[in-house]
Amino acid sequence: AKEDGRGRHAFYTPAMGEHSRRRVAVEEGLRHALLHEQLSLHWQPKVDIQRWTIVGAEALMRWDHPVLGRVNPAEFIPVAEQTGLIDDLGRWALQEACRTAAGPLAGVCISVNLSPAQLRDARFVNHVRDALRESGLNPAMLELEITESVLMEDVQGALDQLHALRGLGVRVALDDFGVGYSSLAYLRRFPFDTLKIDRAFVHEVLARKDARAIVQMIAQLAATLGMRTVCEGVETAQQLAVVAKAGCHEVQGYLVSPPKPLIELQKFRAAWQPHAPE
Ligand code: C2E
Ligand code: CA
Ligand code: CA
Ligand code: CA
Repeated sequence: AKEDGRGRHAFYTPAMGEHSRRRVAVEEGLRHALLHEQLSLHWQPKVDIQRWTIVGAEALMRWDHPVLGRVNPAEFIPVAEQTGLIDDLGRWALQEACRTAAGPLAGVCISVNLSPAQLRDARFVNHVRDALRESGLNPAMLELEITESVLMEDVQGALDQLHALRGLGVRVALDDFGVGYSSLAYLRRFPFDTLKIDRAFVHEVLARKDARAIVQMIAQLAATLGMRTVCEGVETAQQLAVVAKAGCHEVQGYLVSPPKPLIELQKFRAAWQPHAPE
């Protein structure tokens, strides 16, 4: 074991050489990804459970590198955050999502993920305003998804940013709800329109009573506070039945569709059959 210079211990193993070579390749490649047009957005639909209509779509970044192939956001977003590249990547995603929402995806509310660093950036609200103006998108059709870690670092700063964003008329969602620490206290303080219940709970609603109870409790609490709930990671009809019964408003997950390239999502929308509420 060896100190890595920031007080953390780095353990070197034979696999490590490979690991750090990959990390360097990802970082290097990411610097040129935007310029070389290797980034794209995939879209995952959100469905209103009662009306069974597609009401939204989340933009999820994809990166295709000529040598590394498809790199997952779970791998490259942390690298982008550590290197500061997330500013440019995040701004690109916002602009691209707004253009798409104003054009080919008109009619559904689109969601864009934000990194903590973006929300901490004082210019961020201006970036959102610019993206809306350039695309002509109705602000009410844009939702920004943030995770609660950003709220805990600087409560007042985050509050100010969220209020400024809502002042533009955009919606704000709390992503991955339930997996952090201080969720309940922050819910009341922060002006969220939507709560996204983390996949971890949804995954367990059939097998575990406690997970089912938590989903019911979150849905009731959100309703009391005037927020919509979206259940992430719904993969089966049984899970859908449970979260519908709990009173969740929307589902997003492989049961409906995985994230798709824009063209595929448009075909999917065209073929979609809504059904009347039961
Ligand atoms: P997230 O925001 O929680 O996005 C949902 C993730 O769950 C997506 O993974 C999606 O493909 C996956 N998913 C959706 N339905 C299901 C399901 O039914 N089952 C399972 N097992 N998984 C499902 P993805 O696309 O790999 O993205 C991973 C994470 O990367 C996202 O988690 C988000 O935190 C981050 N990310 C993606 N795009 C962006 C972006 O443009 N900006 C930022 N800052 N982060 C992004
Ligand atoms: Ca998200
Ligand atoms: Ca999520
Ligand atoms: Ca997540």
